[in-house]
Amino acid sequence: MTTRREFLTQGSAGSLGLIALANGFPISATKPAKNTFQVAITTPQKVVILGAGFSGLAAGYFLSKQGVDVTILEARSRIGGRVFSHKIDDTDNLTIELGAEWVGASHKRLIALCKEFGLELKNNQFNTHLIYQDEYFTEAKWDYSTAWNSKFEEILQAYANFSEADKVELDKMDWWRYLVNNGISGRDLELRELLDSTDFGESIRQVSAFAALAEYAESSEKNEMDYKIKGGNNQLAKAMAKAIGRDKILLNHQVVSVVQSGETVTITCEDGFKIEANNVICTLPTLAISQIHWEPMLPKDKQAAINALQYARINKNALLYDQRFWKDESFDILTDILPHYFYHATKNQPSQKGVLISYTIGDKADVVSRQTDTWRSRMINNALKPAFGETKSHLLKQTSYYWGNDKYSGGAYAVYGTGQWFTIRPVLERKFENVYFAGEHLADWQGFMEGAINTGEAAAEQILGTLSKAKVPVRA
Ligand SMILES: Cc1cc2nc3c(=O)[nH]c(=O)nc-3n(C[C@H](O)[C@H](O)[C@H](O)COP(=O)(O)OP(=O)(O)OC[C@H]3O[C@@H](n4cnc5c(N)ncnc54)[C@H](O)[C@@H]3O)c2cc1C
Repeated sequence: MTTRREFLTQGSAGSLGLIALANGFPISATKPAKNTFQVAITTPQKVVILGAGFSGLAAGYFLSKQGVDVTILEARSRIGGRVFSHKIDDTDNLTIELGAEWVGASHKRLIALCKEFGLELKNNQFNTHLIYQDEYFTEAKWDYSTAWNSKFEEILQAYANFSEADKVELDKMDWWRYLVNNGISGRDLELRELLDSTDFGESIRQVSAFAALAEYAESSEKNEMDYKIKGGNNQLAKAMAKAIGRDKILLNHQVVSVVQSGETVTITCEDGFKIEANNVICTLPTLAISQIHWEPMLPKDKQAAINALQYARINKNALLYDQRFWKDESFDILTDILPHYFYHATKNQPSQKGVLISYTIGDKADVVSRQTDTWRSRMINNALKPAFGETKSHLLKQTSYYWGNDKYSGGAYAVYGTGQWFTIRPVLERKFENVYFAGEHLADWQGFMEGAINTGEAAAEQILGTLSKAKVPVRA
């Protein structure tokens, strides 16, 4: 059984070199027309990829390097999907992330791709301050109790010896329950809820204990909050798109129907555009998958799995200030009130000005997203008072994005609830006729850009594997 991190060794980058295709081109698996060819044809296969997020772009880049003809269909007017870099200040060239923020030190494929494209990774680690019950604590002045710190260390260590059966059992419980059963209480529990819910985007009562423990036990010291790509994380999307060929990526092409008949898949977009393919890689979030007309219909268990998976409600509210009054480039702060968590979003970007992002999750995000900018800036001013006093006179502008209302994902990333990791994930990732599935929700590095890349590459690799085994068509 594949567990969260085993994916890294089993699939994707590690075995790329194993796929050997004749003359670098896949051999056509389509039926030859009758009495046409004397010799084997080596027409390149057509692969259509749904979605130009990191998963679709990684799949497209992988396949096009092997000479496969790819077309990527993207509903939005931009590439990158849930990687959404935004220039908030043109004068000083300040770029923030409204989607994915951190590149983890363990995210090997992403880091390798940055290297391949000459993209620089900047340190993006923070030292967390705290506002708790209206009192401000600098990073050195707060911690969990000593007893809980050592208990948690024990929990992390014990995970290394978990059997597969233990992991399946753990998945049946939520993270809050597991922590409580391990003796956490009071302030320690409140802090864990506040901190861990920023990772999962919903309360820890809604997260599988297996998904949570696997993430904490197998992550880097700063829990994969290590780097950011210079100039914005979408630089990697741009680099992959350029390498694939921008003409191969069709923006404003929302897929509405996927019809499979024999060895041909016909994909239709909202505007009537049609394209045929031998294979399709679908990298869409489950909400978007459910809105497509599938013919034949997706199997019942896949439909049920699609309907069962929830996505995190995250709202990012970015505030551009005329000065960095927090006076620490590596500043972030956890609060126990509505704005939840703030971090310095312009670290390593030289300017007098600076951006703090208020990162809210779950019900808090839902509430905050529905208010006006004036309301939000007032709330944030009040929240920061114990640390910095009045800050509203420094505010130049703000922008906000609520992923809970995103038309295509309905949330920031998947949240596997109790009992879901070992049950619905395998169903979601299962191939359906000539359609392969990829995307962060299927990854061992689930919820990360790395996971999106891993699954995109794995789907591409599977298609190439099938092609290399396909019979060479001969004259009928
Ligand atoms: C607020 C937030 C914070 C995050 N923080 C981090 C972080 O710190 N570190 C990290 O590594 N990751 C983070 N992530 C997660 C990361 O962004 C995702 O894991 C990753 O970008 C998902 O990539 P994907 O290709 O699987 O999906 P997507 O990026 O969603 O790509 C799917 C694409 O399909 C398109 N699409 C949808 N429907 C259709 C259709 N019908 N037809 C055609 N196209 C369609 C969408 O527009 C989208 O472009 C964060 C995400 C969010 C939103």
